[in-house]
Amino acid sequence: MTTEERLKQYEEWLFRRSAYQMALSIIGIDKLTVAPPAGNAYRDARTAYLSGELFSIDTDPAILEVLKELKDDPAVDADTAKGIQLYYEEAQKRLCIPKAEYIAFEELSNRSYDAWLEAKQKKDYSIFEPYLKQVIEAQKKLYGYRDSELPLYERMLDDYEPGMRIADYDAFFAAVKERLLPLIAKIRDAEKPEDDFLYQEYSVEEQKKFTDELLQYLRFDPSWGYQNETEHPFTSWTCENDCRTTTKYLPDNPVSAIFSTVHEVGHATYEHQCDPRYDGMILSDGISSGMHESQSRLCENYLGRTDAFWEYNFPRLQKHFPEQLGSVTLAQWMRAVNAAGPSLVRTEADELTYPVHILIRYEIEKGLFSGEISTEGLDKVWNAKYREYLGIEAEDPSEGILQDVHWSGGSFGYFPTYALGSAFAAQFTDAMRRDLDVDKALAEGRYDLCMDWLKEHIHRYGCRYNAKEVMLKATGKPFDVNIYLDYLEDKYSRLYGLK
Ligand code: ZN
Repeated sequence: MTTEERLKQYEEWLFRRSAYQMALSIIGIDKLTVAPPAGNAYRDARTAYLSGELFSIDTDPAILEVLKELKDDPAVDADTAKGIQLYYEEAQKRLCIPKAEYIAFEELSNRSYDAWLEAKQKKDYSIFEPYLKQVIEAQKKLYGYRDSELPLYERMLDDYEPGMRIADYDAFFAAVKERLLPLIAKIRDAEKPEDDFLYQEYSVEEQKKFTDELLQYLRFDPSWGYQNETEHPFTSWTCENDCRTTTKYLPDNPVSAIFSTVHEVGHATYEHQCDPRYDGMILSDGISSGMHESQSRLCENYLGRTDAFWEYNFPRLQKHFPEQLGSVTLAQWMRAVNAAGPSLVRTEADELTYPVHILIRYEIEKGLFSGEISTEGLDKVWNAKYREYLGIEAEDPSEGILQDVHWSGGSFGYFPTYALGSAFAAQFTDAMRRDLDVDKALAEGRYDLCMDWLKEHIHRYGCRYNAKEVMLKATGKPFDVNIYLDYLEDKYSRLYGLK
């Protein structure tokens, strides 16, 4: 076979697998947004079948032979070769798993999700516990098939953030503990900013009208993006020109929907701004979970919680809620939306305490896979850690161990990337501010200038380069956790008059 013939086969294979991926993605979005629950069993069985078919396509020995030949073929251009290399590595990870076990795991994770949802609604961890146990055992087995020197939990960490090891995360979280826990304790004792005005009746209808304006400011264009509502906001996509986000409206607080919108649109913009040449290919994916999260958090916190962002947007919000916000000043609003303090629910946590929520999950995951912690009584372990680090404890498990969906589907090793993403974002913003008058752009409604900077330095590459390479390209230096911790110390010492 010639290089041209192999490339033709490769392209046909890419198209075939992207069709299955698109179907699975749309069914997944549908399940999490609008699909009636009574259809779950029927749908889950067929979704598992489609996943199995995709598995077969991805591990077809004939295509693997083609990939193997092409990845070292000097006649293949560098971009294509990189994509082929990534597919080949992914295939090796999957190939080691017997197909029947792969399908069984898909089915298990679907049932486990349903059990998690029921447990959360009934506020009863015991409904979910047997599924969590099975999911962990299944993951141990599936990851055990891999030909890898890494400890089990490290293999999982590596899937979400390639190259990050337990020792790297241990150092990262040790720095978080050392510098942030004392600051959080000081803030807990400091005077609370006035924020009563946030907790009143805010009509959801009116909130949606403001969201429409906000989506325009964020350049989330209906020609390529659509926003829905879910209990747990997320972003998903089929290609660069079909990105779906969700948000959650609270009738007694507008802040949740606003910042989850800015966050999820940050994820969607990352996908949308990738080089269109990579569409339908592995190169169009974000580099890693940490990098994806860095883009959403950059938008949410490093742009969305600045004075400049609200100089433009606050008067518009006030127009929708004159009774609630008419007499509130911009300075009061800024202090309220940046208020920090221990809380139970990760997705509602402020920037400062957020990494501590992640630290707790990291310690639990590490313990679950080293065997030091078991699923039995895990709700109590969870509560004890919240008490130790944040001084509070959930009475209701839906605000404790059942709050997050991740573990129901076997996503272990994912949480740490959330904290890492915030830290990456601090360093990217630092670089963006060197090139661009960010505050001027935000205050004048030119959010697009910030998105252009991200496109130029990060988004367009997709996963053509790894996280370390992009960090160096975009910021001129390797990742440094201190940029993040300096930012938090500076911001919160200022806000709370601790300096
Ligand atoms: Zn996110």
